[in-house]
This record gives sequence, structure tokens and C-alpha cells, in this order.
Amino acid sequence: MLRPAIRTETFTESVIREMTRVAREHDALNLAQGFPDFPAPTRIKEAACQAVMDDVNQYAITWGAPELRSALEESYRELYGMEVEGDREITVTCGATEAMASVVLALLNPGDEVIVFEPFYENYGPDTILCGATPVFVPLDPPDYPLHPDRLEAVVTPRTRAVILNTPNNPTGRVFGRTELEAVASLCIRHDLVAITDEIYEHILYEGEHIPLATLEGMRERTVTVSGASKTFSVTGWRIGTIVAPPTLTGAIRKVHDFLTVGAPAPFQRAVAVGLRELGRPYYASLAEAYRERRDTLVAGLQAAGFQCTPPQGAYYVLADFSNLSRQDDRAFSRVLTREAGVAPVPGSSFFSEGARGSRLVRFAFCKRLETLQEAAERLRRFGGLGS
Ligand code: GLN
Repeated sequence: MLRPAIRTETFTESVIREMTRVAREHDALNLAQGFPDFPAPTRIKEAACQAVMDDVNQYAITWGAPELRSALEESYRELYGMEVEGDREITVTCGATEAMASVVLALLNPGDEVIVFEPFYENYGPDTILCGATPVFVPLDPPDYPLHPDRLEAVVTPRTRAVILNTPNNPTGRVFGRTELEAVASLCIRHDLVAITDEIYEHILYEGEHIPLATLEGMRERTVTVSGASKTFSVTGWRIGTIVAPPTLTGAIRKVHDFLTVGAPAPFQRAVAVGLRELGRPYYASLAEAYRERRDTLVAGLQAAGFQCTPPQGAYYVLADFSNLSRQDDRAFSRVLTREAGVAPVPGSSFFSEGARGSRLVRFAFCKRLETLQEAAERLRRFGGLGS
């Protein structure tokens, strides 16, 4: 009998994408998967249409259209004072998802250990497992999720090869501060580790500042910085991700990327270059402001309905404790909430290596129009009222 490869049995299907399907089945508001339900900026949509009409319709150079790589160079320099060489250090991928997968496939060997902070974005588990590497989890504790350097140090073994860090963080909403990043940097330098940072929410923050780990002393040559256009320009369907890595690592990353996907969509690469060049800082500030209002609307709605949660510092998720509303576990509760309240969250267990740690939690995404969030808040309040 034909059987799939054993490696596919070592991880499960994405619960985030599964909840999107469940939300559709019940015609519920989808606060599960993190994609915007509001339009992308007109300027970049026009640029994308124009690119198609101008026949930018064939493969771009595998590692990314030169115009996008040079716009990224300028953007990293202007925003973070980071000098990046587009020719030797930037790779454009099909979303940050492919970026993360290409990076770990290019850098990890079977048997390597990779430090992952927990709770974590669910892709990091399968990404590592597909390489035959082992994720080693370091817990961040609610409600503030601080990074404890001693916990990091305690898990390092001779097999440790990398640290995956996501800031602003999905799902906790933490924006890691300089002192915490310095602890990660010091660990990487002392143990000769590579840092892989997922900075896809770099422009969505409400407190503190976004500090790319690569800008810390001694880190540029050992950090791989992943980001992309999906969240910044509200275009998750365009699949434009970016990688900045030292030349010594970029060659390997580009080889993997080339044979996985050849390249990211050419017309959208041009449009993202336009977004980076023409929208820039004022746009990022207004994006964060609009998200702040969405965050406050959802958090107030969740608290009024009986959930326990604190406002995130960045990204667009709220991890909420539903203990006051139900004794069910997170998976059962997520389905009940979707069916009966018409609001779909993601079960908390999807963000933990041991599901039990997330069994009182659900994650809500607030990358939605204010009306959607107000309607969700109202539905949740009614649902909370029914249960009490
Ligand atoms: N990053 C988003 C989330 O956490 C979307 C994930 C995805 O489906 N690619 O919901």
C-alpha cells in the first residue's frame, strides 16, 4: 500500500488554517487566522496592476527583483541604521513562511537543537522537524512574558545550533526590549549560535521600539532577519517575504529557496518596492495607530465578555484566558465559540509543545475592520452573558 513519508507523521496540520475552515463552515467572524479584512493601500495596488500591465509577468531573478532588494537596502538603512548589501545579503521569498523554511533547511543539520520561545508561532515546530532538527522550548510566562536569560542558558548543549526569536511576538504580543535582546545576543556569541529572527510585525507596535537583533553589537554576522510585506502592507495573499543574512549564509539559503519556489511573484515584488519607497515612515505610523484602536476595541470586548487578557505591546493578536467562561478545553471551547457565538479563535494549545499549557487559552486576531471587531465584541458579550 502507498504510504506518505514518515516525516509527515511527525507534525500535525496547521490548527490556524483549520480554524479558518471551521469559521467558514459556521459563517463566523474569523478572528483565527491573522489576515486583514480591510483593503491594502491604493498606491501599492495600483503599482501591482501597473506591473502586470507593463508585463512584469515572468520570473524575477531568483533571489529577488533588483528594485526590491535596493528598496530594502534603503529601508533597512533609514529605519534601523543597518547597512545591507542587496546583491549578497538579501533573498526575496514566497512569504515569511517560505523564508523561515528555506533558512532552517539551509542552516540546520539533522540532530541540531534549536531554541524556540514558548508560546510560539506554530510553523517553527514543523519547520525544524522537517530538517531533522529538534526544537528545544524555553517558556515565557504570562501575563508579561519576560525573557529569562538563565532559562536560555540552561537549555544550551553541544548540539545547540540556533535560536528562533519572533518580535513583535505572535501570539503573546511581546515586543522584546534591548536588555532581553542583549541576553539573546550574548548567548549566541558565547555559544557560536545563529539567530533566526522573525520580524514580520516590525511596524505593528504600540509600546517600545522595534530593535532588529542584527543591529546589536556582534550580531550582524550571525543573524538571519526574516520579514515581509504581508503584515506591513496588508497583502498576505501576495506572498512576498524577505531574508537578510550574511553572505556566508545567503548562498545556502538562496540555493534552497531556488529549488523550492524559483522566486516570489514578480509584479508584487515591484509593487512592494514602490510601497517601501513611497509610503515609508508616515504610513507605518498610521498603520500602528489604526491597529491600536482595533486592539483597544477587541481587548475591551473580551474583558467585558469575561475573558482575562492584557493589551499586547505589538503584533495583532490577543492571547486570552477563558477560564471564567467555560470548563471545556481550548479546542472544544474554540469550536463552541465559533458555532454559538459566531466568532472563531485559535485554540491556545497550538502555540505550546505540551498542549495542556494552552488548554485555558484562545488567540484572537484583530487585523480586522473596526466594525468587524465591534460586532465580534458584541457577539462575545452576548455569549459571555449566556454562560454566567
Ligand atoms: N501569521 C498568521 C497567523 O498566525 C497567519 C498564518 C498563516 O496562515 N500563514 O494567524
